[in-house]
Amino acid sequence: MSSTESLPLLLKQLRLHQVSAHWQDYANQANEQHWSYSDYLATLCNLEATQRQQDKIKRRLKQAKLPANKTIDSFDFDAAPSINAAQMQSLAHDTQWVHKAHNLIIFGPSGAGKTHLASAIAYQMIHKDIRCLFTSTMALVQSLQQAKQAYKLNEAIAKLARIPLLILDDIGYVRKDEAETSVLFELIADRYENNSLIITANQSFSEWGEIFPDHVMAVAAVDRLVHHATIINIDEDSYRTRNACQNNSTHS
Ligand code: ADP
Ligand code: MG
Repeated sequence: MSSTESLPLLLKQLRLHQVSAHWQDYANQANEQHWSYSDYLATLCNLEATQRQQDKIKRRLKQAKLPANKTIDSFDFDAAPSINAAQMQSLAHDTQWVHKAHNLIIFGPSGAGKTHLASAIAYQMIHKDIRCLFTSTMALVQSLQQAKQAYKLNEAIAKLARIPLLILDDIGYVRKDEAETSVLFELIADRYENNSLIITANQSFSEWGEIFPDHVMAVAAVDRLVHHATIINIDEDSYRTRNACQNNSTHS
């Protein structure tokens, strides 16, 4: 039998930080309350596992770069009757669509709540062990273009392929004349049937010709995106404007 003297050092070496911090307290409690050895061990293992899960979620939330405080609980569905609340709740709580590499495309005018909903769904997915990354489409296209110039586009796309859910916010802000957006097509083609995308857009598919270098590429991109996708149209005025109007009318 090993001596308990070496226990603090062993627990440190094994990186069992919770066990290390609590084993003595629980040993006293176990003695007083006549726990079995296995109950004592299970309690400590539980502490360790819970803490690790919480740390992992914290780490993944940080890596995901979601806009702050945009959760499903803070979304006012009553203020957005054109949104099917049950459908959104199901997308936020059921991970099946991500496991199947399906997409979600959210259309709607500026301020309608697209970014909020996309972030809210990603927030829930992270809590269900799915890695996410939120990015403005423009910023991602720029970084992919830089990678392409450095002959590292495949590497960059492969790195993104390790993230099962990628949120491309405001795809419509990308303009084909700003730079070569074929990198965006390459990303979409790579993720097709392998990984999920949430895309927010304030213009309909018919206007996506503005985003891609040519019509054929635009059609091919839309084709891949919608093949396995849930498409949501938010038909609301800007929440910000509605709020401002309401505040003004209550103050007047
Ligand atoms: P979009 O991406 O469609 O332009 P956002 O999601 O950024 O719009 O929404 C604009 C602001 O209004 C954000 O601060 C968002 O949190 C808030 N918002 C929009 N719709 C709602 C809603 N139904 N309930 C609560 N907040 C909302
Ligand atoms: Mg937005």
